[in-house]
Amino acid sequence: MPFHELIAKDPQLSCYLFSEDDARGRRMVRPQYRPFICPRCAKVDELRALAQAGVPDIRFSSTRDIVSTADDFKLCSQRFIDGLAAAGITGLSFLPLPSQSGAFIVLPQARAKVDETIAGIEAHGERCSQCARWRETAIGPLCQSIEKPADALAIFSPAVWPESVRGARPLFFCTASAAKALSPQRFKGLELSEAF
Ligand SMILES: [Zn+2]
Repeated sequence: MPFHELIAKDPQLSCYLFSEDDARGRRMVRPQYRPFICPRCAKVDELRALAQAGVPDIRFSSTRDIVSTADDFKLCSQRFIDGLAAAGITGLSFLPLPSQSGAFIVLPQARAKVDETIAGIEAHGERCSQCARWRETAIGPLCQSIEKPADALAIFSPAVWPESVRGARPLFFCTASAAKALSPQRFKGLELSEAF
C-alpha cells in the first residue's frame, strides 16, 4: 500500500535553516553549525546540529500552517501541532523558533527502517565514505522499502533521506488512515500526495 507524503505547498525561498549570506553575499553555513560539517563531503549533519547547537535565528512570513524552508525542512504553526493532537496523530516533534513565537521546526521522533536493496534510489555523484550520504539523489527511497510504523496514525520519516547538493531533504509520510484523520483539520498549506 502506498503512503501519502506530506508536502508543504508554500516554500519560503529566502528562509534557510543551516546557511546564511555573508557580508559579500556568499551563502555560508551558519557559524553555529560549522562544527557539524562532514570533513569529507562538507554537508552539515542537520539533526545533530539542531540538537547540539540550537535553533537558528530565522523569521518568515506566512499565514499557512506548514511551509518548507529553502533548504527543504518544514516549519509549522501552533495550530498545526494542536490539530495533529486533536486528530490523534503521533510521530513528530517540534522545535520552537526563538525568533518567531508560534513557529516550529518539524522533525521526526524516530526514523523508519529502509531496505536499501529495494529503495530504488537514483543517485548522482559519489556516496560519502565518511558520513554515507549521497551527493545528490533524484529518486527514492520508494515506499516499498520503508517499514510501516506499528501506529497507524503516526507520521513517519524514512531512515534514508533524499539529498540535494546542499543537504538532506527530510521526507514525511503517513498511511491512508492517518491521511483520513488529518483531512478534517484543513491545514493551510498542506498537501497529501500519494507517494511512490
Ligand atoms: Zn560526508
